[in-house]
Amino acid sequence: MTSQKTSQILANVIKEGRKSLLETEAKAICAEYAIPVTKFELAKNAAEAARFAEKIGFPIVLKIVSPDIIHKSDIGGVVVNLKDAKSVEQAYAQIMKNVKTHCPKARIAGMLVQEMAPSSTEVIIGSIKDPQFGPAMMFGLGGIFVEVLKDVTFRIAPITEEEAREMISDVKAYPLLKGYRNTPPADIGALVKILVNTSKLVTEHQEIKELDLNPVMVYEKGAKTVDARIILE
Ligand code: ADP
Ligand code: MG
Repeated sequence: MTSQKTSQILANVIKEGRKSLLETEAKAICAEYAIPVTKFELAKNAAEAARFAEKIGFPIVLKIVSPDIIHKSDIGGVVVNLKDAKSVEQAYAQIMKNVKTHCPKARIAGMLVQEMAPSSTEVIIGSIKDPQFGPAMMFGLGGIFVEVLKDVTFRIAPITEEEAREMISDVKAYPLLKGYRNTPPADIGALVKILVNTSKLVTEHQEIKELDLNPVMVYEKGAKTVDARIILE
């Protein structure tokens, strides 16, 4: 099997009695399935975070990593666009303070030091398991398109490349991906690959109940997942 690392990570999460994966675990799984993710390192203190930031390269994003915190930005657990080591150390302290205030009991696995993906059109790629049909794939554009307009498409997994292409072209916001005014056309092929690879992941690992790549930044060339969430049965 090609997904040895994924099986290992999932087995460990189950052994620890958890249902949700840490972002580090979810992204390691994505990487094994050739789903592009931002580079990251897990730091245990502010000085280490600054060192990792120098290694990865600025600008940097810092995020809390905790099995007890699912929606990180809601509690001030994400700081983007850090441009030097000093800002990284300051943001580290600020995030720790926010966590203490809002989730005093949260267990802390560390701080994710992450490559900052340039902002671009954001899409959401997801999967949910239907009790009858098994895993289904979801696609939509980020922000208001999903949250307000519910402009999303679904297909039962596994999906072919052609079905992935249809999922993308079937959303009402599709013209935005094809380019408009000053926005260049998005790399649809890169999104097709992510959809197909994610479909392969959830088909091969039926212990996954929900998967959420939110957001995936899509560029003229390529795409990158900046946040990944996986929930088990
Ligand atoms: P959560 O969804 O748990 O609140 P995210 O990891 O999605 O946390 O971070 C919140 C927002 O911060 C994202 O929607 C994205 O806009 C931005 N962001 C997070 N990580 C990155 C990154 N590596 N590069 C660029 N933007 C990021
Ligand atoms: Mg997110």
